[in-house]
Amino acid sequence: MPASILDRVKRGVVVGDGGYLLELERRGYVDSGSDREKVGTGKGSGQFTPEVAVENPDALRGLHREFLTAGAQVLQALTFFGTREKLGRAGFGEQTEAINAAAVRLAKEVAGDDALVAGSVSRTQLFEREGPGAAGHVRDLLKEQIDLLQAAGVDFLILETFFHLAEMKVGLECAAASGLPVVATMSFRPTLDACSDGHSPAECARQMADGGAALVGANCEQEPARMLPILRAMRDAVGGRAGIAAQPSAFRTTDQTPCFTKLPQFPDDLETIQVSRRDFRAFGRQARQEGIGFVGGCCGCNAVYIRALARGVAE
Ligand SMILES: [Zn+2]
Repeated sequence: MPASILDRVKRGVVVGDGGYLLELERRGYVDSGSDREKVGTGKGSGQFTPEVAVENPDALRGLHREFLTAGAQVLQALTFFGTREKLGRAGFGEQTEAINAAAVRLAKEVAGDDALVAGSVSRTQLFEREGPGAAGHVRDLLKEQIDLLQAAGVDFLILETFFHLAEMKVGLECAAASGLPVVATMSFRPTLDACSDGHSPAECARQMADGGAALVGANCEQEPARMLPILRAMRDAVGGRAGIAAQPSAFRTTDQTPCFTKLPQFPDDLETIQVSRRDFRAFGRQARQEGIGFVGGCCGCNAVYIRALARGVAE
């Protein structure tokens, strides 16, 4: 039996992958929702959903192979935004089981014995759309998806891109019931010092560790250098009770708007704010000295960035 994510993190920095949806959007296989709505306003229909797993499985399989070849030790199944309600808004609700199962199957097929497979569980968007009263519905949706991911055979779960700590806590409850190891990462937007329901990175880290996450951290929205202070605050807050995970984006943000999804370049001008792969190599080098156990990429990264990251980790 291959070593678990927990054992691997104890032995050294583990390299992940990402980001699938934006890379596959660039290749023409994922719908960004551009021109139909302002993405992220919460009025959305089908943006950035993972139906590519059943619509164009070869495209997803190929990207998994690229990440594995680049040095990823973990492949994330493309199940981001894969809850029934979100898929339903995109017109794929009836394929919830098929999409989640296919995404895990493809990742496992490519991973073989060479990488672990993580099920990706993201925010539902219902806290943004409906407020904290959505918690009960969110619990049903996340429980259903986590059951599907577990049945499909993921090795562990990555809870990612949650804006509200309250929603993350619902996700952690559902994840704990599965018994699978959990990596939990919040995304900080529009400010770096608090998540959408007002908790500091340190407080998020403590509560995620309390909720059973083996690794806690941040993903998406910022480039590595801007994410680093968040990760340090989280590391200092948990004091070794949990490991630290980081999956930064590859877009250059600003002091005024430190989150790329709030910049005017999102989603159609992102090429103009791409950071260099060198930033990811440097981040890989920093990971060990900063006490980060798991590093990957998020939006804007492709295999070139993950290769650079893996090289940096190895230096
Ligand atoms: Zn992202």
